Parts: sequence; C-alpha cells; structure tokens
Amino acid sequence: RNLTTRFPLRGGVLQRVTGHVHAVEDVSLHIRRGETLGLVGESGCGKSTVGRSVLRLTEPTAGEIRLDGIDIARLPPRRLRPLRRRLQIIFQDPFSSLNPRLKAGAIVGEALAIHGLAGRRERERRVAELFERVGLRPDQMQRFPHEFSGGQRQRLAIARALIVEPELVVADESVSALDVSIQASVINLLVRLQQEMSVAYLFISHDMSVVEHVSHRVAVMYFGRVVEVGERPDVFAEPLHPYTEALMSAVPVPDPATRRRKRILLTGELPSPIDPPPGCPFHTRCPIAEARCRSERPVLEEKRPGHWAACHLR
Ligand code: SF4
Ligand code: MG
Repeated sequence: RNLTTRFPLRGGVLQRVTGHVHAVEDVSLHIRRGETLGLVGESGCGKSTVGRSVLRLTEPTAGEIRLDGIDIARLPPRRLRPLRRRLQIIFQDPFSSLNPRLKAGAIVGEALAIHGLAGRRERERRVAELFERVGLRPDQMQRFPHEFSGGQRQRLAIARALIVEPELVVADESVSALDVSIQASVINLLVRLQQEMSVAYLFISHDMSVVEHVSHRVAVMYFGRVVEVGERPDVFAEPLHPYTEALMSAVPVPDPATRRRKRILLTGELPSPIDPPPGCPFHTRCPIAEARCRSERPVLEEKRPGHWAACHLR
C-alpha cells in the first residue's frame, strides 16, 4: 500500500545526497492467495524494485507491505526472519543466482536447513521428491549447477523457491533468458505447481504474451507508477490506459493482417526519474494528451468493476 522506493543520488566531493531516483512512487497492489498477478512495463519502469521491495531485499522508503495483515515493511530483522519462508523469489538468470560450489541437492535443501524445517534425512527425501515434481531426476541432486542446461537450472531455482512451501513467489523475468521453446515448458511447470501448491505469484515480465498466458490479474507500470490494473481478460481485451494500448499494440502476431489493433508507436521523451515532471507521467509520450495532463496528476480510479486506470480521459 502506497509503496514508495527512492534511491539516493550522491555527488560532489562530500558525497552528499543531491537528489533521489524515484524508482517506485505510491504503488498499491494486492495479490490473492493462489493467484498470479502479472506486472508488466518497459525495462526501468520499477517492476523489479516493486518485487524486491515486497521481499525487503530493497528497503522501501515509505508505504506498507502487508502479509496477512502484518506490515512487514518496518519489522526488525529478528521478527522478519520467520516470515521470510513465506516469501520467495526466482531471478532472471538461473546461473548467477545458484551457488556454483554447491551441489544441486544442497542448493534446493539449504532453505529447509536455514529455517530449521527438516533434519538431514527428511531434507533429502523432500528434495528428491521436489526434483521429480519439477522435472529433474533425483540422481541429479549430486550434480553442480554448471552441469545443467539453462532450462534445468531454472527448474532448480523454482525447486529452491518452492521447497519451503511459500505463499508468495516473486518471479522476476524468470523465463526471459530462456529459449522460446523452453520458456513454454517452464511456464507450464509454474502454472501446474501453482495449482498443486496454491502458491501466489507476482509475475514480473516485459513480455505481454507470457503475462497474458500466466496471469489472473495484470498490473501495468509506467515510470514507477501503476497506471492500470484489472482482471487479465479485461486488461487485454479492453485496455483503458493509452500506455497499455501502446504496449498491447506492439505484441508481435504471426500474421500482421490479423492484428487485433493498430500498432501505436510511442514518440516523445521518457521523463527524468530524478526530476519527475508534474501532471501525468505519460504526458510526454501520450498520443491523446490534453493541456491538463501536463499539470494534474491522474489518480488510479475504478473505471469499470475491478478495472482501474490512472488517466483523465478514460
Ligand atoms: Fe494521456 Fe492524459 Fe491519460 Fe496521461 S492522463 S494517459 S497524458 S490522456
Ligand atoms: Mg527488472
């Protein structure tokens, strides 16, 4: 709720703080148990910062992060630790995020040991079982990460996140680095595991077609803010925000003649995240901007049942 994350800019000989990068401004979102919220937007729009802030890997500047009503944004480490098990993350690059010196079985079992959830024998049994569920063989527990293919490494990362039975997994561009053919199998695995384990995903991606495939609800971010959020079919079939329309229109289709909507090319400058302009953050690129868009900031409003957008004209 009202999550804001700013990074201090330091400059001058004394390295005094001279300004802030406004990475995330006043973002409010909710994720229901067992659902996937897709978070889309261009690179640099603040999606990853939202994901990292939710897990407190990045400290939010303001706002609340509620897990079952508990605000974890300001919990001291001692009280945060037991809650960490419930929130896990899968990164984009499965290679750099897996310890190269540990065997695959130890990588996946580590969190069970850290959280004191199982003794050694029990740990091995649970890791072996999960290996099979994610499409790896239990004998591969003895291998090192470099002995796996990219797709298999991402299966390992998924197993590592799910072994502690979390309630929310942040998947940050988790399939973006994989070949398209392998993407599909990893996405289907995530969907199946969600059904089996009723885990919720915050699924961060710049790829609209992937997000359309996995999400129950979709939030669109632009320049650190959520500009549209709603049920996936509503957002994809009837986008409200001009930025969402532009994103949708850029999705490649096999036969351009059957394109659902005309390609909208965005021109104009991206505003500076150090000195955000007044008014609507999208006004410098919006094809339908009016005078008041340059001075009045539109707030997120429920324009249709369950479908919110921040735009004066929609
Ligand atoms: Fe465009 Fe104005 Fe709507 Fe912003 S508020 S998206 S500038 S029409
Ligand atoms: Mg990112």
